[in-house]
Amino acid sequence: MRVFNFAAGPAALPLEVLEQARDEMTDWRGSGMSVMEISHRSEAFAAVAAEAEADLRELLSIPANYKVLFLQGGASAQFSAVPLNLAHAGSRVDYVNTGAWSAKALGEAGRYCSVHVAADAAASDYTSVPPQSTWRPTPGAAYLHYTPNETIGGVEFAFVPQVDAPLVADMSSTILSRPIDVSRFGLIYAGAQKNIGPAGLCLVIVREDLTGHARADTPRVWDYKSVADAGSMLNTPPTFGWYVAGLVFKWLKRQGGLSAVAERNRAKAQLLYRTIDDSGFYRNPVAADSRSWMNVPFMLADPRLGARFVREAAQAGLANLEGHRSAGGMRASIYNAMPLEGVRALSDFMREFARRHG
Ligand SMILES: *Cc1c(COP(=O)(O)O)cnc(C)c1O
Repeated sequence: MRVFNFAAGPAALPLEVLEQARDEMTDWRGSGMSVMEISHRSEAFAAVAAEAEADLRELLSIPANYKVLFLQGGASAQFSAVPLNLAHAGSRVDYVNTGAWSAKALGEAGRYCSVHVAADAAASDYTSVPPQSTWRPTPGAAYLHYTPNETIGGVEFAFVPQVDAPLVADMSSTILSRPIDVSRFGLIYAGAQKNIGPAGLCLVIVREDLTGHARADTPRVWDYKSVADAGSMLNTPPTFGWYVAGLVFKWLKRQGGLSAVAERNRAKAQLLYRTIDDSGFYRNPVAADSRSWMNVPFMLADPRLGARFVREAAQAGLANLEGHRSAGGMRASIYNAMPLEGVRALSDFMREFARRHG
């Protein structure tokens, strides 16, 4: 029996996608083989790869002067690849620190160049996005990096920053949750395991003029220009992940594209935050204008009830609600694959639990 899976990542995938992958698992489109068992250089796989990219380009309206790369190494590898490709040893780079993932990204960048924290949400204990009027960007910075959605803190930007330097965004937990204007960004990266597909694949969308300037000691597999020139097949790409991502892109198109998906995501988030705010029993610490549509952390009035909440929720078919080990409390991740009925079931369970224990 399928449950409603609120895991933060790897996260739930659309059932239709899993069923299609299952149906095609051992005999992929009449080939007598699994898609996992064929050469990435084959014509058949090239078609899968090209179609996935075309569908992603359509979904996000990616302009022609942007390259789409299908990489390995997760978002964490991009914490290094970004400074290696976009900055030099003496370069100044700007980072906005809104929580755990920002901190990891800027920590890694500090190994390669001179990091300046242009804004920091410390004053709010990382529960809100600092208004852009308070930022102090470095003139001439090689880029400005930010994390549009902090997966652990549940803090999301409601705006795209306006800066002179190329804008770099770690969209791991928010990509494809709503339409974005890609032309505002120099580079977008996202690990797949939240809103795209299986772990092991990482997408990079990069403006072409930002490639070709990597530091000389950049590993070739992380050099955006080398990878782009090779169509992300400099070496063996994560073929199965690429294929499943393609199925997810098709599913998103069947959902009506990202505007329709965004409406659903907004409704899901609103229902959950309303349940929390109206309860007097649960609490979400994030400022109203910085609340994530994708990751909703919440505390119980009595933290000792946490284990019981998680256990009873699991018994009710609501899985993986325990918060991140660093944050405690609960967290419901409600990515694209989580249907509204899953959030309704959670909301009903929460009301009932609060009634019994409040
Ligand atoms: C999950 C996550 C990462 C880490 O991704 P890996 O693929 O495990 O490296 C980085 N940034 C954000 C915002 C994330 O949600």
